[in-house]
Amino acid sequence: AVPVALVAGLSRAAHYGVLIKGAKPLEMLAQIRTLILDKTGTLTEGRPRILAVQSRGALAEDEILRLAASLDQASQHPVAQALVQAARERGLVLYLPTEVAEIPGEGVLGHIDGKSVLVGGDRFVTERVGDGALPDEALMAGAVLVALSVDGHLAGHLIMADPLREGAREMLDALRQLGVSRILLATGDRADVAERVTDGLGLDGLRAGLTPDQKVLLVLSERKDGAVAMVGDGVNDAPALAAADVGIAMGARGAAASAEAADVVLLVDSIDRLRPGLEIARGARGIAI
Ligand code: ADP
Ligand code: MG
Repeated sequence: AVPVALVAGLSRAAHYGVLIKGAKPLEMLAQIRTLILDKTGTLTEGRPRILAVQSRGALAEDEILRLAASLDQASQHPVAQALVQAARERGLVLYLPTEVAEIPGEGVLGHIDGKSVLVGGDRFVTERVGDGALPDEALMAGAVLVALSVDGHLAGHLIMADPLREGAREMLDALRQLGVSRILLATGDRADVAERVTDGLGLDGLRAGLTPDQKVLLVLSERKDGAVAMVGDGVNDAPALAAADVGIAMGARGAAASAEAADVVLLVDSIDRLRPGLEIARGARGIAI
């Protein structure tokens, strides 16, 4: 028989918008020692806004945004969705690219008007066009950087701000009081962005520039020291969520793949739901299995 207390715990959690997929995740959630957080869309608001567009060549700023957004129609990444929305708000009519391929967490490749176009993080584009030019230092500090290339040449950058979610600091403090002793940030983004945005949060560590595989390796190595929960929102986070003792997906706006790979889904777009989730799990301890 299914213990009544287990059912009560799961349904109480659901009431808070925390979908816990069964007895084992509920039990593990109470034992979490290390919490690993993704940055974009998890710790940050995940609705980046454009601070500046910089052209490296002949293209006008609006054309850079138009090309970037046209390719990014194919992506669920929060940065991609923000670019599409910004282009629409400026009244730009998007192209319909062909031969589109996304590399999750990195960027999108495709063809527009017979030209080969890439949009993505600066490393993604630099590696492929061999041009490491960057925007002015002052603009770049702490900003999310998106690069665009056309026919193998760097065409420009979109410089974006993605602020920390409100109440992040308080939420992390509350989780520490619930027994989480180590909190790390794992991001595919640049180290200086990660440092700037998490300044003052009192994190125990920060790993930047990670590929999806490297996020998995981080989870596995942290598991040697106790139970690990990984929180993420993207397609690129799905393998790391699956590798954790408890994978937690930001379900409200995150990728379906991450919700599927997860043991716990936050149905409300807010990491502060981790707190009632952990409280309920601790209250139900010992009765679940
Ligand atoms: P995080 O791990 O913090 O969630 P990601 O690894 O998902 O961050 O993304 C890192 C960076 O890669 C983003 O800040 C952005 O610059 C770039 N990026 C990833 N996917 C896309 C995309 N589809 N379009 C534009 N930029 C992208
Ligand atoms: Mg993310």
